Amino acid sequence: MNNYFVILAAGKSKRFSSNLSKQFYKYKNKEIIDHSVEKSLNSKLFKKIIIVSNNIRRLKKKKYPKLVTIIEGGKERADSSLNALKYIKRYKPKNVYIHDAARPNFSIKLLKTISKNLKKSNAVVPIINSNDAIKHKVENKVFNLKRKDSFLTQTPQAFRFSELYDLATKEKSKINDEASLFLNKGLKIKFILGENLNNKITYLDDVKLPKTYYGLGFDIHRLVKNKKLFLGGAKIPFHSGLKGHSDGDVILHAITDAILGALRRKDIGTYFPNTKKYKNIRSPKMLKPVVENLYKSNFSINNLDINLICEQPKVSRYRNKIIKSISKLTNLNKDLINLKGKTVEKLGLIGKEKAIACEVIISITKYD
Ligand code: ZN
Repeated sequence: MNNYFVILAAGKSKRFSSNLSKQFYKYKNKEIIDHSVEKSLNSKLFKKIIIVSNNIRRLKKKKYPKLVTIIEGGKERADSSLNALKYIKRYKPKNVYIHDAARPNFSIKLLKTISKNLKKSNAVVPIINSNDAIKHKVENKVFNLKRKDSFLTQTPQAFRFSELYDLATKEKSKINDEASLFLNKGLKIKFILGENLNNKITYLDDVKLPKTYYGLGFDIHRLVKNKKLFLGGAKIPFHSGLKGHSDGDVILHAITDAILGALRRKDIGTYFPNTKKYKNIRSPKMLKPVVENLYKSNFSINNLDINLICEQPKVSRYRNKIIKSISKLTNLNKDLINLKGKTVEKLGLIGKEKAIACEVIISITKYD
């Protein structure tokens, strides 16, 4: 197992518009660099993992395990790669893997496949076919490359150390990857199938994934005679209505709280306290600004699930009416709203038809 894994992380991220260096950007709950470090460690294929970086101070703070070494990067990618080769020469390595930190999505399986192929070859490089048509320019002429004959090289690329070292130390031009060193000299490379997901993160957009949040809402109001009953903003014929500072619409109150919960913006009472100003307010008026705020902040609603807890009225009779009203108030497709009726075996206040309760769960996603 005389293998060494080199992670090149000294890139200047020219196309990555963020003050933070690309390799330290959070991606899938980890900094980009850490995906490569963890996978190379977990593969148990390597004696040492060498990170080449221009921000050694920040990396040292991470307290990686002992077999991770951090060394200074060079001006260009080729310089950093050469720095690493010169550094590990003292350990007399048999094989070296070179990997770009900007590719956090490779699998451990790929590392193992490379390792297997490296037994019979001096150079193993993963490739994938291009989904886009590739053009090649020679002087002023542009040629179409046949898609089946063109492919893209990825990293990690693995090499017999002595061969790569000889080629890299003699090379005068700045190469883009180590495979080029072999190809320029007409040396043989074993190409293996790479991974479509193992794409290079080049632009900030590549790491901005949608974020999903959940919110929970609950409400209960007493039933009183001589009041209109509103559920989900719809007027429901019933002998009693819900008592409250507002119209007592338990469904809309629970939805409002669920949205505020998912947005992490406290609760309905914070925005609509029991003051004179809001006396007898209709609940759609409370929900509306909260929904507007949600959409304005670039969120969209994935779904809404509602439990209405009461003996009477029967939910099945008014389900469509209530869902239609909620759909209109939240600007959400009816198919994404579910309303369940739940009785409580005649227990307690709700069982004795003295109150109605409601619980709601909502899922929302933010697209930047
Ligand atoms: Zn309420």
